[in-house]
Amino acid sequence: MNWDFEPAQDEIEKAREMLLGASRICVLTGAGISQESGVPTFRGADGLWKQFRAEELATPEAFYSNPRLVWEWYDWRRQLIANAEPNAGHYALKEMEDKKEGFTLITQNVDGLHRKAGSRNVIELHGNIWEIRCTVTGEVEENHEVPLKEIPPRCTKTGKMARPNVVWFGEIVPHELISRSLRAIEECDLMLIVGTSGLVQPASYFGIAAKRNNKPVIEINLDPTPNTGLYDLSIRGKSGKVLPLIV
Ligand code: NAD
Repeated sequence: MNWDFEPAQDEIEKAREMLLGASRICVLTGAGISQESGVPTFRGADGLWKQFRAEELATPEAFYSNPRLVWEWYDWRRQLIANAEPNAGHYALKEMEDKKEGFTLITQNVDGLHRKAGSRNVIELHGNIWEIRCTVTGEVEENHEVPLKEIPPRCTKTGKMARPNVVWFGEIVPHELISRSLRAIEECDLMLIVGTSGLVQPASYFGIAAKRNNKPVIEINLDPTPNTGLYDLSIRGKSGKVLPLIV
């Protein structure tokens, strides 16, 4: 499938108008925004590693039954991300933050590319791939070693096995991050939902929360999602192409 089609011009115009009339913006991003930086999504054709689906590896059960395998997958992903640069979509959101009175960026991504592009008010709902957490004490530390010298890596304080400091399927997003996100949605004039399949909780609820609060919502995605019908505008296209056109 060729995804390099031009987004519909009337939809771009409508999105520009909606954005111009809004001073407080809340954005939710998913793996799709980093796809053009070369970071694979979980549900795209490139979502496989060896013979495993991401959903089989990104779980506490997978980790505790085979920590080495899960860490090898993370080591591979960390190498990809270390070589990745933010794309035009990430930079357009940074520019949007510079222009607006209020701006919150909620991301499900763990790659840190929004911060690398200069975005400041970022809520990383699912953690960060450049942090590790001691499996005994829960202490978090930064770790930028690429490739990892030892797999699994150890906590530098206790010497015990560490895990990636990310939220896996079946785990709970810290309550404080959910409250901050819902507050940003309640306080915004417009919500933008970019490159997320809308299948992972709690973020899949955020667009519904925005509509319950009567907020206009624009979606940008290559494909329709389960919530597309709820939104005011849904633009088909690559985020790296669409976002710079509407900011
Ligand atoms: P997902 O893989 O379920 O869905 C990606 C979505 O992005 C799809 O709807 C797809 O149609 C769309 N998409 C793909 N390329 C696009 C592009 N260029 N422009 C616009 N849309 C595009 O991702 P998700 O909804 O974020 O949920 C999966 C989970 O995967 C999250 O928990 C996230 O933490 C994790 N994840 C993160 C990364 C990352 O940090 N970059 C990468 C893979 C998965």
